[in-house]
Amino acid sequence: MAFEAIPKDLRALRACLVCSMIKSFDQFETDGCDNCEDFLRMKNNREQVYDCTSNNFDGMIAVMSPDDSWVCKWQRISRFTKGIYAISVSGRLPNSIIREMKNRGIPYRPRDTSQR
Ligand SMILES: [Zn+2]
Repeated sequence: MAFEAIPKDLRALRACLVCSMIKSFDQFETDGCDNCEDFLRMKNNREQVYDCTSNNFDGMIAVMSPDDSWVCKWQRISRFTKGIYAISVSGRLPNSIIREMKNRGIPYRPRDTSQR
């Protein structure tokens, strides 16, 4: 992933509450989350973007090859796509989404490491 792909306006950046991927609000609204769009369905749904992403996150990791990065194994994002990820994301998913993930057999692990 090229670094020029990172939006210049950092204030507009948000992190996905499920996989911690960081993109701009506009990117989430236009493309959804690269990893979670199946069940989060944020495309063209501003409210869903607000619900499922957070602008309150800490740390950034640029992931080039998720498969062989020890950082990714440590962050448990090795199955995810290339991109920029947050180390910690504050916020909580709506219960309806957590339920939907459960129905699909996807374990939800809160990304907020500051609470532990
Ligand atoms: Zn995601």
